[in-house]
Amino acid sequence: MTDFWTIEDSNKLYQIQGWGEPYFSINEQGNIAVSTRGDDDKIDLFELVESLKKRDVHLPLLIRFSDMLDDRLKRLHDCMNEAIDRYNYDNVYRGVYPIKCNQHKQLVEALVEYGKPYNFGLEVGSKPELMIALATLEVDKNGQRLLICNGYKDKEYLETALLAQQLGHNLIIVIEQISELYIILKLAQKLNLKPNLGVRAKLQTKGSGHWGNSTGEKAKFGLTIPEILTVVNKLKSEDKLDCLKLLHFHIGSQISSIAVIKDAIREASQIYVQLSKMGAGMKYLDVGGGLAVDYDGSKTNFYASKNYNMQNYANDIVAAVKETCDENNIPSPILVSESGRAITSHHSVLIFNVVSSNNPPLEIPKPTEEKEHLIIRNLWETYETIDEENYQEMYHDAVQFKDEAISLFNFGYLSLLDRAKAEQLYWGCCHKIYQITKNETYVSDDLNDLNDLMIATYYINLSVFQSAPDAWAIDQLFPVLPIHRLNEKPTVKGVLADLTCDSDGKIDKFIDLLDVKNALELHPLKPLEAKDIDNKENTNFQPYYLGMFLVGAYQEIMGNLHNLFGDINVIHIQNKEENYQIKYVVKGDTVTDVLKYVEYSAEDLTEKLRCLTENALLEKQIDLEKSQLLIKNYEENLRSYTYLT
Ligand code: PLP
Repeated sequence: MTDFWTIEDSNKLYQIQGWGEPYFSINEQGNIAVSTRGDDDKIDLFELVESLKKRDVHLPLLIRFSDMLDDRLKRLHDCMNEAIDRYNYDNVYRGVYPIKCNQHKQLVEALVEYGKPYNFGLEVGSKPELMIALATLEVDKNGQRLLICNGYKDKEYLETALLAQQLGHNLIIVIEQISELYIILKLAQKLNLKPNLGVRAKLQTKGSGHWGNSTGEKAKFGLTIPEILTVVNKLKSEDKLDCLKLLHFHIGSQISSIAVIKDAIREASQIYVQLSKMGAGMKYLDVGGGLAVDYDGSKTNFYASKNYNMQNYANDIVAAVKETCDENNIPSPILVSESGRAITSHHSVLIFNVVSSNNPPLEIPKPTEEKEHLIIRNLWETYETIDEENYQEMYHDAVQFKDEAISLFNFGYLSLLDRAKAEQLYWGCCHKIYQITKNETYVSDDLNDLNDLMIATYYINLSVFQSAPDAWAIDQLFPVLPIHRLNEKPTVKGVLADLTCDSDGKIDKFIDLLDVKNALELHPLKPLEAKDIDNKENTNFQPYYLGMFLVGAYQEIMGNLHNLFGDINVIHIQNKEENYQIKYVVKGDTVTDVLKYVEYSAEDLTEKLRCLTENALLEKQIDLEKSQLLIKNYEENLRSYTYLT
C-alpha cells in the first residue's frame, strides 16, 4: 500500500464537499479553508486557531463566522423569492428566526441586523425568549417584520405580548392550547385592544426522524381540528374572528424527506383555505421549522441528511399553497417559515485538541527460546506463520492461546513476565493480521472483533456533554475531522474520548456515505520537536486539532455542566474587506464561575483552605513556603479555564 495522499483523498474520505459546500474546503497547505459567503475569500482555519492561541484564547473553542448567518438568510430568502417568481405567487415571504435554536446575544443581534433587508423577524417559544425579542427586534413601522409568539403561555406572557402589540410590533400570538384563548380574550377586554392571533394545528401528516412525533394526535403542541373549530366559534361569538390571522404548524426538526414536507403543506393549505372561508381574517401561513441540514453529505433521506435542497423546499411550499388557494379563490397568504437549524448550523465550528492517544500496543515480539512455556512458543509460532492465506485460522489460534495463557496465569502456572510476553505476542498477531485485512472491502464476520480491537482512542480536550450534547443524547452525527495535515494519509482509526469521567463521554459514531462509521481516520500524533519540549508542560505531542462542524444549532444551549466543565471560549469572526476581524471574544467559564452554579463561593473555599494550611502548619505537616505555594496554586486554579490549557 502506498502512503501517497492528496487533499483530494481527504476531501473524499471526510465527505467535505457533501456537507461543507460552499463554505468549507481544503487549501493547498492541507488545512481547512472557510469561505464565509461561499466565495473565493478563504480563511485558513488552522492559522486562525494558532493566532487565537497567541492571543491567549485557548482550546476548546467555538468559532462563529457571523457572515455565514447573513449568507444563509440571503440564500433562504432568494430561494423563496425565486419560487414566488416561478409560480407567479401573488404574495411575499417573511421568515422568522426561532430564538430557541441559539439565543446568544451576539448571534440574535447579528441575525436581526442581517435580517433587515429581507424583513426577517423572530419567533419565541418562552417568556425569556419573548423578553429578548421585544428588546432586540426593532419596531418596524410598516409591520413587515414579524414577531411570532409560540410555546405555552401564562397570563404574564400573554399580557406582555398583547401590550407589546401597542408598541408597533407586528406580533402574533399563536394559540397552542385552548386555555390560552380564554386568557387572551379576558386580557384584551380589560386592556381594550384587539389581539393578533394565530393557531397551531396538530397535523395528521406523519413526521419522520428523531422529532417525527411533533405531529399527529399525540403531538405535544398544537390544536386538533375540533379544537381549532372551538377557537373559531368562540372568536365568532365575540365578534373577533377577524383577529385570527395565522395558521402555524411544525412537523419537527431535521425533516430528511421532501415527501413529508409536501404532505404537510398540502394538509395545512387546506386548513388555511377552510378557515378563510369561515370568515377568519387569515393572512399568514407559517410552515414552522424542519428545513434539514445535510450532516453526512449523502443527499439522502437518512436521518443525518436530506434528499432535497433549499430551492426544492421553497418550490414545494409555494407551489402547493398557490394551487390550493387558487382552486378555492382565496388570496394567497404571506408565507412564513421558522427555519433555525438551516440558518445557524453552518456558522459555528467547534475546535478542540487531542491531548494523548491510546493505540493498540505494538511491540514487535522477540523470538522465543526452547525453554519457554509451551503457550508462549505456540503464540510465537502463530505469529511467525501468519500470511495472506491463513490469517483467519491464525487469528482464531491467537485468541485461543491468549485465553489459555490468562487461565494458566489465573491458576498460578504462568508468571507475570510470561503473561506479559503472551499478551505482546497476541497483539503482535493482531497487528500482523490487521495489516493484511485493513484494506479489504470484505472481511468475514469473525474478524470484526479484530477491527474493533485495533481502534485507537484519542483523548480530546472537550466535554461532549457541554459542547455536543446531541452527539451523546440522541446519537446525532456531526462531521468531525482534523483541520490540518489533510495532505497526509491518516493511518490510524480511532474514537474520541472526552475529559469527563463518564464512559458516555465519547464520540464513536462518524458520518459515512453509506451508513455510520464506528471509527474516524486520524493521523498519528507526532512527538514534539526538541526546541518545543521546554515550552510545553502538558503534552509530549505536537498540536493536533480536530473540528466538529455544523454545530451552530441547539448545541450551545443544550450543553450541560457534567464534571463541571463549563462554557467554552467563543470567538466571533467577521469579514473585513479582504481580511477578517475578531469581533467578539466571549471568554468561557472559569472554575470560579462553574462553582458558583453549584452554590460554592470562591472566597469561602479559599478561606477554608487557608484554615486547613494554618492547622497543618501548627501540626508541622507543611512548611510555610509550601503552604503559601498551595494557596497560590488554589487561587490560580479558581481563576483558570475549566479545560486543559
Ligand atoms: N418552530 C418551532 C415551533 C419549533 O419547535 C422549532 C424547533 O424544533 C423550530 C421552529 C425550528 O426548527 P428547525 O431548527 O428544524 O428549523
